[in-house]
Amino acid sequence: MRIELENLEGGKSDFAHVYQPEDLNPVDERVKLSGPATVNGKIRLSANEVFVNGHVDTRAQVECDRCLKPVELPVSADFELEYISGSEYESSAVAELTEAEMSVSVFDGKAIDVDEIVKEQILLAVPTRMLCQPDCKGICPDCGIDKNTGDCACGANKVDPRWAALKNLTGGKS
Ligand SMILES: [Zn+2]
Ligand SMILES: [Zn+2]
Repeated sequence: MRIELENLEGGKSDFAHVYQPEDLNPVDERVKLSGPATVNGKIRLSANEVFVNGHVDTRAQVECDRCLKPVELPVSADFELEYISGSEYESSAVAELTEAEMSVSVFDGKAIDVDEIVKEQILLAVPTRMLCQPDCKGICPDCGIDKNTGDCACGANKVDPRWAALKNLTGGKS
């Protein structure tokens, strides 16, 4: 959903939308939506800037860092954003202001892309490190078995190649 600024009556508007997971998936390579995402908020125009604030609610699926199993978690985020158009950004007065307020984004001056806002808020709300359980054993790099559900003999049988060479030198006696 894009909000065209020239259609805003009185320079402001409320917005609300429900995204189905397939509208936004994949959010990025490790995050997917597992339920609808509800967004609602307000948009307000001032002379040089656009202010957008609102709230996102959804359920996300994030891959476990070790075994890649999807972990589901609720996401609930409030946002408060400020946009200036590219041409305003180039004028030095606004550039100074931008340095002071790091939450300012640059846009094309015509429309605000709500899809992008929702995706960004979901990514900000999801932890950067994710484990399905605190002691997840991960995946065996040799046979690919999920070590949480079964054991393999790869680690036990593996002989360090340097020791194997030494063993050959001594005629294999052990
Ligand atoms: Zn895991
Ligand atoms: Zn294995």
